[in-house]
Amino acid sequence: MAVSFEDPAAPLEGIAEAMFDGILAVGDRPALAAAHLAESLGLSFHPPAAVAAARNKFLSRGCFRSAGMKVPKYLTIPLEAQTNTLPYASQAARLESSGIGFPCVLKPLGLSGSRGVIRANNPSEFDNAFGRIRKLLDHPDVRQFHDPQDRLIQVEEFIPGREFAIEGIMTRGSLQVLAIFDKPDPLDGPFFEETIYVTPSRESSSAQAALIEATEQAVAALGLYHGPIHAEMRLNDDGVWMLEVAGRPIGGLCAGALRFCQGDHSHSFSLEELLLRHAASQDLRGVAREPAASGVLMIPVPRPGVYTGIVGVESALACPGVTRCEITAKEGQSLLPLPEGAGYPGFLFARGERPEHVELSLRKAHACLALSISPVLPIVK
Ligand code: ADP
Repeated sequence: MAVSFEDPAAPLEGIAEAMFDGILAVGDRPALAAAHLAESLGLSFHPPAAVAAARNKFLSRGCFRSAGMKVPKYLTIPLEAQTNTLPYASQAARLESSGIGFPCVLKPLGLSGSRGVIRANNPSEFDNAFGRIRKLLDHPDVRQFHDPQDRLIQVEEFIPGREFAIEGIMTRGSLQVLAIFDKPDPLDGPFFEETIYVTPSRESSSAQAALIEATEQAVAALGLYHGPIHAEMRLNDDGVWMLEVAGRPIGGLCAGALRFCQGDHSHSFSLEELLLRHAASQDLRGVAREPAASGVLMIPVPRPGVYTGIVGVESALACPGVTRCEITAKEGQSLLPLPEGAGYPGFLFARGERPEHVELSLRKAHACLALSISPVLPIVK
C-alpha cells in the first residue's frame, strides 16, 4: 500500500484488515506517517504529536524550554513578513527585545541534514543568509510538500561548543542508548556540514552521563515513546544544549558504522536488524554495540556541478582500518554543497581498536579521494 508523506494523517483504505507485528520508519516525514498509522492500528510507536514536535525546530525548542532544559534564545520570522525592507532592519527591534545578538544562526523550521542552516556574524550576513534560505524554501523541491513550517525561518543564538550525536531506541518510554558519537571536526559555520562521526566517545564519563541525561530529558519533553531516536547536542562550560531529537534512526548510510552484539561477541548484527527486532517486540536486553571503535565520514561535496566520477577508492580502501567506501552519487547527477544541497556523494567507514585510530583512518582515506565534478553550463535563453 502506498502511504502519502504529504498527508501523513490520511486514512489508508484496507489497512484495518491487514495484520502487522509492528511499525518502523526511516526519515522524518515517514516517521510522522508511521506515528499516525501506529495510532490507528493500536501499535506501539512514538505519538504523532511527539514526532511532529521533534521535526519542527520551533515546537521542539518550546518543549525543551518548558522542561527546564538549556535553550538558546530564539524567534521565528515568517517569509511573507519580508517584502520591502531588508530582513535584518525589519526584525532588529524584535531580535533586540528577544536578546538575540551576533553571532546567530538562521535555519528553516522543517528541513534536515543542516540544509539551510547558516551562521551570521553581522547584519549584512544576516540579510544574505535570510535571502539564501528564502530561495531554498521557494524551490519546488521544498514547496511540493505544502508544509506550513517551510514558510518560516528561525533565528537562534549561536551556541559554541563540541558537538555529539546519540543513537538510541525507546521501549514504552524508556531510553536505551545504543551509541554516543563524537564529531571531531569543529562545526563553527557559516555552514554546518557534518563530516566525521566516531564512537565510542572520548569524553569523560561524567560528560557522557550529562549527554545521556539531557537526551532522556529531551525525549520525555517531546513525548517520544517507542522506536528509534537520533539526538544531536552541543556541550560547553554551561552544560548540554540539545539541538534536536528526531523520532527516527540516524540518516544516510551512517547506520553502517554501528554493529551490535547480544551476549556472545562472535555474532554481530546491524542497526537495521536491531530496529526490526525491536519493532517485532523482541527482547533487546543485553544488546550492546560491538567492542571495537567505529566511525563514518560523510564525503562532503567540494563544489557544485555534475558528478562524473571518483578516483582513489582503491587507495582509500587500502588505508589501515578502512572497511568500506560507498559512493552513492551516480554519474551525471547534480551535486550541490550545503547550505542548499541535501545528502552526501558517499561514505567512508573505518574500525579500529581506539576512536583516535578510526578518526585518523577516515582522514587518510578521505585524502586519497578526488571527486570529478564538471561545472554546470548556464542556460542562455
Ligand atoms: P538539521 O535538522 O537540519 O540538522 P539543526 O538545527 O540540527 O538542523 O542544525 C544543524 C547543525 O547546525 C547542527 O548540527 C549544528 O552544528 C548547527 N547549529 C544549529 N543550531 C545551532 C545553534 N543555535 N548554535 C550553534 N550551532 C548550531
